[in-house]
Amino acid sequence: MTKKKENARKCDDFFKKQSRQGLALGFGDIRLRTNFSEILPNQTKLQSSFSRNIAINIPIISSPMDTVTESKMAIAMAKFGGLGVIHKGLSPEEQAAQVAKVKHHLSAFIAEPICVKGGDKVGDILRMRDQKDYGFSSFPVVDGERRLIGIVTSNDFEFCDDVEGKTIFDIMSTDIISAEHLDVKGAYQMMQERHKKILPITDRGAVLSGIYTWKDVKRIMTNDAQGYSLDKNGSLLVGAAIGVTGDDKLRAELLAAKGVNVFVVDTAHGNSRDVFQMVQYLKHSYPDIDVVAGNVSEAKAARNLLDVGVDGIRVGQGPGSICTTRIIAGIGHPQVSAIYECAKAIRGSGIPICADGGIEYSGDITIALAAGAESVMLGKLLAGTTESPGLVLFKNGKSVKVYRGMGSLGAMLDNKSSRERYGQTGNTGDKLVPEGVEAEIAFKGDVANILFQLTGGLRSGMGYVGASSLYQLQKRADFCRMSSSGSAESHPHVEGMQDAPNYRRAN
Ligand code: IMP
Repeated sequence: MTKKKENARKCDDFFKKQSRQGLALGFGDIRLRTNFSEILPNQTKLQSSFSRNIAINIPIISSPMDTVTESKMAIAMAKFGGLGVIHKGLSPEEQAAQVAKVKHHLSAFIAEPICVKGGDKVGDILRMRDQKDYGFSSFPVVDGERRLIGIVTSNDFEFCDDVEGKTIFDIMSTDIISAEHLDVKGAYQMMQERHKKILPITDRGAVLSGIYTWKDVKRIMTNDAQGYSLDKNGSLLVGAAIGVTGDDKLRAELLAAKGVNVFVVDTAHGNSRDVFQMVQYLKHSYPDIDVVAGNVSEAKAARNLLDVGVDGIRVGQGPGSICTTRIIAGIGHPQVSAIYECAKAIRGSGIPICADGGIEYSGDITIALAAGAESVMLGKLLAGTTESPGLVLFKNGKSVKVYRGMGSLGAMLDNKSSRERYGQTGNTGDKLVPEGVEAEIAFKGDVANILFQLTGGLRSGMGYVGASSLYQLQKRADFCRMSSSGSAESHPHVEGMQDAPNYRRAN
């Protein structure tokens, strides 16, 4: 098959026809056609990627907004197989601390383990363990150059007959099994074969670079952590938003030090010089961390980002539920056409598109992915949950949480990075021009239940299209336009309707 044919998609003709008429489409304008299918929803696979090196098990990302993603949301997202991007409305130190919380939540590989010295008194170490309330008793023993010289474990402490007289040298084991550069799978195999509960990792000069602990390694490699989004060391994946100013270079440094997996250069206009320069700076300074940038909504803009070396592209200018950009600034591109055109412009490059904003229902996720995105980013649908930042408020007999645009007046007044996102760095008070609104939305409970419904709807859509994977969904998808009566008949049209767990009429 020629490369051109291999890259061709069934829906190309449909979008070509629309664009010939100068029409751009949003989620409410179209539906997917069904195909003959041998695929049941529970046979579908949702594995995808957010960026070049960030693989995810479900194609859902939580948005970097101050009412959506901090560590609690990012942990829940990664445990469900997606990914959370920590917002940048925090100081660089606070944002880095949020990243650290996610990285420490499940951590098979401990990069900075508590070590002891050979000359330490056994009694002193036991007292330190109790005082600090460490829940473990195994420690690597290192010399002054941090070279590994032994290991002490709970057994060594247990059988020590003179804790005040003896030193760690006297009780440590020197018969050490260690390794260089091992991922969590390799560590699991080695620890299981050699019956070791702690596996030190050293460099060539025997300098300790970290340890694996059996409890977490086992949790990750057995069903307990199946489906989690994990990095190669077995800790949960997490992203962090970053801006384009000089201060953001310090932010990047702190985030990188805490192990962030992907930077998201978070601006309202990704096709701009400052974004290109920041992408280049990050790629050059942190070659091991992926960089996703945006937002864009035009084919040329996606190609420009590709040319400056991004690892992923965020598409969406104006579709967000709290967004007023299209109304205030008069710009934008209806989201499904924007996704299709950006994805088509970079087809074959291997760089994923994340469709950001405007998703109201699970069916919109199926449409966004079918049109060419590899993941969707959600704000409203994940806000108002147990894991989203902010308090549950009781108003008029209802439990609500605040959800607000990062360009809303409140967010701009509260943090500098929101002003920067909308190019209003020096402005304050009544000199701000918001591009978003604030809302109080019904409290929805745990985000896992929401993700279950959203992925369930996506799986169902894939079944109708006859696609077992997201790749097949993109290959097999074709669309039809809906008239206004087609759209009306798509929604329930019955009196006295009750909300369902996956449906409430958008207002
Ligand atoms: P939602 O899922 O439809 O609520 O859209 C969320 C997306 O809206 C975010 O991921 C951002 O890309 C975008 N967004 C966030 N805040 C604002 C804003 O104040 N104005 C415009 N767009 C925003």
